[in-house]
Amino acid sequence: MRVVVIGAGLGGLSAAAHLVRRGHQVTVLERDSVPGGRVGLLASDGFHIDTGPTILLMPNLLAETFAAAGRDMAHYLTIEPVDPMYRATFADGSELRVLHDREAMTEEIRRFANAREAGAFNEFCEWLVDLYQAESTNFIDTNFGGPWDVLRKWRGIVEIAKHGGFGRLDSKVASFFDDERLQRIFSYQTLLGGLSPKDALAMYAVVCYMDTVGGVYAPRGGMHTIATGLARATVDAGATIRYGTPVTRILRGGDNAVTGVEIGGSERITADAVVCNADLPVAYRTLLGGTDAPRAARRGRYSPSCLLWVAGVRGAAPEGAARHNIHFGDQWEGAFKAIIKRGVRMTDPSILVSMQSVGDPLAAPAGCSTVYAFEPVPNLDGKIDWARDGERLADDLRRRVAQLGYPTDVVVERSYDPLDWEAMGLERGTPFSLSHTVRQSGPFRPNNVDARVPGLVFTGSSTLPGVGVPFVLLSGKLAARRVEEYARATSVVRW
Ligand SMILES: Cc1cc2nc3c(=O)[nH]c(=O)nc-3n(C[C@H](O)[C@H](O)[C@H](O)COP(=O)(O)OP(=O)(O)OC[C@H]3O[C@@H](n4cnc5c(N)ncnc54)[C@H](O)[C@@H]3O)c2cc1C
Repeated sequence: MRVVVIGAGLGGLSAAAHLVRRGHQVTVLERDSVPGGRVGLLASDGFHIDTGPTILLMPNLLAETFAAAGRDMAHYLTIEPVDPMYRATFADGSELRVLHDREAMTEEIRRFANAREAGAFNEFCEWLVDLYQAESTNFIDTNFGGPWDVLRKWRGIVEIAKHGGFGRLDSKVASFFDDERLQRIFSYQTLLGGLSPKDALAMYAVVCYMDTVGGVYAPRGGMHTIATGLARATVDAGATIRYGTPVTRILRGGDNAVTGVEIGGSERITADAVVCNADLPVAYRTLLGGTDAPRAARRGRYSPSCLLWVAGVRGAAPEGAARHNIHFGDQWEGAFKAIIKRGVRMTDPSILVSMQSVGDPLAAPAGCSTVYAFEPVPNLDGKIDWARDGERLADDLRRRVAQLGYPTDVVVERSYDPLDWEAMGLERGTPFSLSHTVRQSGPFRPNNVDARVPGLVFTGSSTLPGVGVPFVLLSGKLAARRVEEYARATSVVRW
């Protein structure tokens, strides 16, 4: 089959990697001059600073994606564990290091809290492992025919229920840990999925499994090298990638099946199937005139966004800084309410400060460091007027980073707010897509196929299974399965 992939984000590249060795003629069309999409890079004055994800979870899924293209990841990337995985600081001045090794982490919890909490950690990890196993084949690494398909998965549902996956996340985590600070570190992950631990189902702890049990990793040279490495591997395997190539329309025939794409309003490329990595609601609006996006994408609830400040600075990391530093503010439930329900900024924002230069010599020149400060904020459905207040809020974030003791003698810098994410083609100005409420996850999330447009398949964070590098890599694999099914159904002769 001739397959066109719109977009060389990780979703598009993963789909291409899974298709290229199956006898398809794969062409990836990317509007930017580089691959990666949200896995962005600020390269200037000797700095190489990630402007998107900084935390690599489940690198085995990345290795599988390279392997699908018949390539060895080690030839393209060097992945290293980040240890400590995080340093968490709390408003009471206490500090916890989240470590790779389970025994070392148990000791750290003993020091930080007490022996009871340390004992609970092992039980918590065992629960996470069971939960992940119950969810991964039934709900994560799987395509759905539609909402009713959930019935086909009844065994998986029973298994998840057996592990308490349908209870509330906050109570489940509190059933292991009494210490409120530990409850925070093992449940804050819901925030970018648009949920507070109080509203999230315990099955959402699968993201906590990915870091607490699976571990945090980083590629040498920064996260952007994942995109460049995967793009190279896909091309080595036989795909074509064209950069600076904006797709302006998905073309359809009389039966509404895809027939190709239009580039830059003029050039046309014929295709038997089109895999679309552009943000799904935006793709429906801009590339598929006349076909409405699924209801969840039009009317659904979108995840919070983020205010991001990245900088190459003179000076060293402060004493004790880790690669990833989570600074919790004093609020907890109030923080979720502010961002998700009231659409306003947290009064005492919890922020992540990542220093890629801690452990990665390629990130900054000698004597310099990189700083990446990330504050969750409401998306454009919220009440903040970013055109008016964006610069002031970014200044505020810079000041906070300086107060925390990080070097801020800037050589090069950039900041991103929800208007910037919107300008990159991301619905409601959030890089974190539709939130992961139950009604917007699994079989209820906008599907990766649409019966109204045969031959069109979606990949990326706005479809199944969801947001984040591991899920997006899986979305490419699921999209490739859909293309294979379509090829079989239409019996198009393979090239
Ligand atoms: C600041 C930030 C921090 C994050 N932190 C983490 C983290 O630590 N860990 C983690 O796992 N995840 C993290 N994420 C989320 C993760 O980056 C995303 O879920 C993932 O990268 C999305 O990939 P994608 O393929 O769905 O989309 P994208 O990366 O957006 O790719 C879509 C591609 O399609 C291209 N495109 C769109 N329209 C067209 C068109 N018409 N023609 C041609 N090309 C087009 C775009 O240019 C882009 O390259 C973070 C994201 C951000 C922004």
